[in-house]
Amino acid sequence: LSFLAGRKVAVMGLGKSGTTTARALLAAGATVLAWDDESTARDQASSAGIPVADPLAECPLGVDLLVWSPGVPHTHPTPHPLAEAARAERVPLVSDISLLARSRPGARIVGISGTNGKSTTTTLVAHLLAEAGIATAAGGNLGTAALDLPDLGPDGRLVLELSSYQLELSDGLVLSSAALLNITPDHLARHGGMEGYVAAKRRLFDYLAPDGTAVIGIDDEPCRAIAAELEAAGRRVVRISAETPLERGVSAADGKLREDGEVVADLAACPRLPGRHNWQNACAAYALARAEGVAPQAAAAALATYPGLAHRQEWLAEIGGVAWINDSKATNADATEKALVCHERIHWILGGRPKEGGIDALAPLFPRIAHAYLIGEATEAFARRLAAAKVPTTCCGELGVAVDLARRQARSGEVVLLSPACASWDQFRSFEHRGDVFREMVAAIERNARADG
Ligand code: ADP
Repeated sequence: LSFLAGRKVAVMGLGKSGTTTARALLAAGATVLAWDDESTARDQASSAGIPVADPLAECPLGVDLLVWSPGVPHTHPTPHPLAEAARAERVPLVSDISLLARSRPGARIVGISGTNGKSTTTTLVAHLLAEAGIATAAGGNLGTAALDLPDLGPDGRLVLELSSYQLELSDGLVLSSAALLNITPDHLARHGGMEGYVAAKRRLFDYLAPDGTAVIGIDDEPCRAIAAELEAAGRRVVRISAETPLERGVSAADGKLREDGEVVADLAACPRLPGRHNWQNACAAYALARAEGVAPQAAAAALATYPGLAHRQEWLAEIGGVAWINDSKATNADATEKALVCHERIHWILGGRPKEGGIDALAPLFPRIAHAYLIGEATEAFARRLAAAKVPTTCCGELGVAVDLARRQARSGEVVLLSPACASWDQFRSFEHRGDVFREMVAAIERNARADG
């Protein structure tokens, strides 16, 4: 970021990306004014040595640049006063992704966006590239903050998960290939409705190099329309589908991954990619790896060795023939459905702070539940719902109680699945914390089982 040496830069939002940005700017010799509307974030940054000051205390702001963190809404529900002040003074408003692109000229960057599956696809494509011997680092909206990613030079690949918020502010980003997985209603309020949300996702391809490859999941209408539009404009498009066999493009309607109709991989042999939703992620990652120059066999073979992501149908252990799975990331019924469809005899640990609609949408899958174990604030409401469907249920309250009971009840060939369909805030710091606690409990069971011989 040496081009910002001696400049005055404001940083809004002091989560992971903002803190990393502030540090990188300081290291580059910029004068930094960092701010967050939450006092705890300010205090943490301040004690980490980041100069915290409200840029709005000065009028005019008198800064050369404003770096905005993706977690802070800048237009919703009303324009943020700091963003407005910057606009009035014509101060450029950018994301850390924009700074990354400017600080790594010539880097090959692969971008992934979509409503669901971004993290899985980002880490999967990074795995396919690395297995093919290409220097690769992944980050952005997941894992490593953008400005902590290494400079890999023109032969390496930076693989970025890009949220719709980052896509709004990533001027200067040039992608060698990009995948848009799917678009379903989410975050609508912040984008001012479905139209605004689709437009924000569509922006992914504004950053695509002229000869870059656009990989697009065509299993939903908004994405189909975007694919047709780019094709009509003569862009290089690879369509992908987990539902429809495609003569041109990458598809996996029957669990066999096909490139232009030819079978290249059997996804049933890829243990960390269970379920049709993961077939979509596999198609996208494969298409991106191919666009980045990986040979078909190498890309296909690496699908089977993908280690998977923590908290997303994360396979923890098999103890006495019972599989233990951590799907703590499933904070709503939609995500939990993706896990329930993968198994038959399920000991289901669920609950927490419920979302609107609760688990009603999951009723068709209730016959798969051998026993339900309820925790957290949702306990009573979910117990009523499950009792009405005659699902054997125990109100456990705490995760530890649920795990202990499931351990005693599950039989060989069955699975114990933590897929809460709820937020974690009532009992845990985050879904990661909830999943980590569960993983520890399962590890203890495994240790005891070993000790017992
Ligand atoms: P994101 O990064 O977009 O939040 P993740 O890869 O972390 O997505 O997956 C989160 C959850 O979303 C998964 O546990 C699964 O339930 C669901 N999911 C993953 N991939 C897809 C997909 N392609 N389509 C629909 N749902 C998906």
